[in-house]
Amino acid sequence: MLQTFSQYIDGAFEPGSTHFDSVDPATGEPWARMPAATAEDVDRAVRAAHRALHAPAWSGLTATARGKLLARLAELVSRDAPLLAELETRDTGKVIRETRAQIGYVAEYYRYYAGLADKLEGRHLPVDKADMEAYTRREPLGVVAAIVPWNSQLFLSAVKLGPALAAGCTVVLKASEEGPAPLLAFAKLVHEAGFPPGVLNVITGFGEACGQALTSHPLVDKVAFTGGPDTARHIVRNTAENLADTSLELGGKSPVIVFDDVDVDSASNSIVAGIFGASGQSCVAGSRLLVQRGVADRLLGVLADKAARIRIGAPGDPATEMGPLATRKQIAHIERTVQASVDAGARLVCGGRAPEGFAADSHYFAPTILDCPHADVPSVRTEFFGPVLSVLRFDTEAEAIALANDSAYGLAAGVFTTNLARGHRLVRALRTGIVWVNTYRVVSPIVPFGGFGLSGLGREGGMEAALAYTRTKSVWINTSDAPIPDPFVMR
Ligand code: NAD
Repeated sequence: MLQTFSQYIDGAFEPGSTHFDSVDPATGEPWARMPAATAEDVDRAVRAAHRALHAPAWSGLTATARGKLLARLAELVSRDAPLLAELETRDTGKVIRETRAQIGYVAEYYRYYAGLADKLEGRHLPVDKADMEAYTRREPLGVVAAIVPWNSQLFLSAVKLGPALAAGCTVVLKASEEGPAPLLAFAKLVHEAGFPPGVLNVITGFGEACGQALTSHPLVDKVAFTGGPDTARHIVRNTAENLADTSLELGGKSPVIVFDDVDVDSASNSIVAGIFGASGQSCVAGSRLLVQRGVADRLLGVLADKAARIRIGAPGDPATEMGPLATRKQIAHIERTVQASVDAGARLVCGGRAPEGFAADSHYFAPTILDCPHADVPSVRTEFFGPVLSVLRFDTEAEAIALANDSAYGLAAGVFTTNLARGHRLVRALRTGIVWVNTYRVVSPIVPFGGFGLSGLGREGGMEAALAYTRTKSVWINTSDAPIPDPFVMR
């Protein structure tokens, strides 16, 4: 018997008129029935969000009251974090030790934006006209279409919903068709927190019927998207119609640069976490290791040892460190690219296939390291979204910077060095939206997140993100009591 989930539109839970089955990646078997939103459902959800935007139940709330609703939502996410973590693990195969830690932290994003709601201030302007006052107001941008990919859906939606709701926007959130269970369950918490109907609607479905209808809808004012660059291009084409604002958080091929002055063992722990954490299914996966020649062989040896010791197993087992990948389609892409890289001269240090004890057609893929002779090996440029590390060697700092910047992406970079001056030089030289020095994959609601180049547009996190969900209204006030002169009488 499949478990059934509902969509949430205009404050009501609905079974949906069409459905699809969600597959448990650990078993490859369907386990739940999801509603697939149709274009008609999308239209109702957007219209509900548009009505709610202007209804006094939401637009009449003070910013402080909006913040209190967000704080309540944060409490409920904390309360139900174990349940949400189980659902995410079941539906996406992300291991339970990671979903528990991540969803516990998701509540902090709602708490942070709860506190920011009444701090989005306009400005008084010292205008250059006598008898005039001018000021700006920060008003909600409008109806937001938030679209997330299958990995870390609760986290990737919190970085959109938190700032959007703090700013007074209303939202239609589209969960991914792969693994939507945690977001459909989260809708119940939105309801329980007491948000007025239509302020936040949660649907799921496929790109064409659901995503396209949503992003091209005439009543949508902003699309906040996380996903792949090809989908982002569709969205940008769709928003040519409604001229909606967009923020795009896309993929990456993030370099981790290791100089020969570091403690190799300590750096290797960050590198392993950066590429094999979440089975490499992370936009900020540190998938290109650039290592100074003097420590390259030693570091590769340590990494291969640590990769071999990673506990691979059932995602629901708290001892499991690496679980399955979400879809077979993704594994096929990884296998093809690994093979093409070996054909192009890369040496397979470890992995490259299903791990020992797992069937070749399972959703599992072993931690893989490719020692690459040059930067034109396919694995150096292609985003795997899986547990594959491509290694290149360098001699000088200038060479490391050139290799790091030789990418169409620019999401994140890691630098490992004990030379403080060099650390700062690299921070300046790297063309990425995030630079981690002697650490990797650390995030916080307080710090903006986003990329350069093909990695996207706009930032999530921090005050910057909240302001991006507002628009400025400029106000002029004539403070003179003198009658306004007739403009057509010559003086
Ligand atoms: P995807 O682009 O295939 O899908 C993302 C979402 O877009 C899904 O909800 C999908 O239904 C929807 N969609 C598909 N076609 C659409 C269309 N025509 N119009 C509107 N919406 C449409 O991505 P994916 O395979 O689910 O996720 C993996 C990608 O996400 C990777 O490239 C990864 O790097 C990226 N990612 C980025 C970040 C980040 O913060 N930068 C975080 C996680 C993942």
